Amino acid sequence: MARHDIVIIGAGPGGYVAAIRGAQLGLDVAVVEREPALGGTCVRIGCIPSKALLESSERYVATRDGLAEHGIRVADVGLDLAAMQARKTTVVRQNTDGVAYLFKKHKVTRYHGHGRLAGDRRVMVDGAEGPTELEATHIVLATGSEPATLPGVEPDGGIIGTSTEALAYDAVPGRLLVIGAGAIGLELGSIWARLGAMVTVVEYLDRILPGMDLQMARDEQRILERQGLTFRLGARVTGARVMGRGAKRRGRLELEGGETLEADRILVAVGRRPVTEGLGLEEVGVALDARGRVQVDAGFRTSVDGVYAIGDLIPGPMLAHKAEEDGVALMELLATGHGHVDYGLVPSVVYTEPEVAAVGQTEEALTESGTPYRKGVFPYSASGRARALAQTDGRVKILAHAETDRILGVHIVGARAGDLIAEAVAAMTFGASAEDLARTVHAHPTLAEMVKEAALAVDGRAIHI
Ligand code: NAD
Repeated sequence: MARHDIVIIGAGPGGYVAAIRGAQLGLDVAVVEREPALGGTCVRIGCIPSKALLESSERYVATRDGLAEHGIRVADVGLDLAAMQARKTTVVRQNTDGVAYLFKKHKVTRYHGHGRLAGDRRVMVDGAEGPTELEATHIVLATGSEPATLPGVEPDGGIIGTSTEALAYDAVPGRLLVIGAGAIGLELGSIWARLGAMVTVVEYLDRILPGMDLQMARDEQRILERQGLTFRLGARVTGARVMGRGAKRRGRLELEGGETLEADRILVAVGRRPVTEGLGLEEVGVALDARGRVQVDAGFRTSVDGVYAIGDLIPGPMLAHKAEEDGVALMELLATGHGHVDYGLVPSVVYTEPEVAAVGQTEEALTESGTPYRKGVFPYSASGRARALAQTDGRVKILAHAETDRILGVHIVGARAGDLIAEAVAAMTFGASAEDLARTVHAHPTLAEMVKEAALAVDGRAIHI
């Protein structure tokens, strides 16, 4: 039986990053992954392919509609969806190959097969060549999550599907219905709207992007509506089915109250749920919480000695970078006794155009907790660089404690918001005040200057508004 210090089940951002960090710390690490390609949902059927298609579809729209104002004339801008999808596949392969290269470089052992707990610090790998048993000092569960389903809505892998199918449509749907106005619904809805689909997003709540700052969510909705997306808010989907035969097959969505909507494709994007089945959790006694997530303590320890869990399997935002941080912290804890993630400072980014990015608390949360705060807002329309880019939609908002001036939340809707938020996260990680950011020299002319201006605006002294 092969023996390793650490056996990780799952090679997504949680598992593969943990493996590399563990190897850096001198541990003998093995990873069990059932897919042939490494990288997990994020790299194969999530973050990476969606970003490839977001970029391509954005370039298509920008070339078709955005060049004339720059004085560039182009004729006959056309769409070659097969080539666009092929490029996406290449980008994914570069990334999955990249993880395989990193495993070789760090001498991480890879087992190809389905891993499950076999008790007594053992993992059974069911692979193509039969079962292999592994022994480990520590076992890490990093199996991630899968799309959640809705009662009455059965994805058929064709007309009614999840993000996996919506990343691989071979033709632009005439009409696309998206269930759920979260990150997945807005990103994939944006891609297909840009490529020509009539997209309607049906959302149960009376707002999009639950959890994000309400003002920013409203800004984003207005901008997306201008791009042609339609929103049906306060509408609960109660069922979906496929109607008709052959070329006439269509999806029909049923809303609470009896209304129905029809489309060529229906995308179910109502959240994700942890992948806990077939892992032997019940057999060895790993406890789950009421929401089906693996219960862990602050050190990622499950209810079974020597078994740990990270990433989408455990509570917290279901984000690749959170899973990565979990993985690093766990390996450092195991190797050195110290490891920590600040869950209050995990940024979230929605990669629409423009992007939405946030870190820390929203205005709603501060109001609810009775925290006194001051607010500084700077609009993209007042930035010289944003004007030069012809990307003047959006704003930067900084929330700071009214008495201590400590930054409590930063919210950005606008071009490159996902890159701009990194400065805010760094500042907050060091416990910065708005004054600290306001006094930081920013290169001119950059979009990042807007972060400084919003920090100045907290104290009513922004220069350019
Ligand atoms: P989500 O939980 O963010 O949003 C789902 C939406 O569906 C919610 O607004 C919810 O109110 C709505 N909904 C639920 N049931 C409904 C019903 N019956 N009818 C109408 N609407 C209904 O989920 P998601 O967008 O599927 O994303 C899943 C996870 O993946 C999230 O944790 C998300 O953060 C993560 N993710 C993040 C990114 C990113 O950060 N860019 C991208 C993709 C996914």
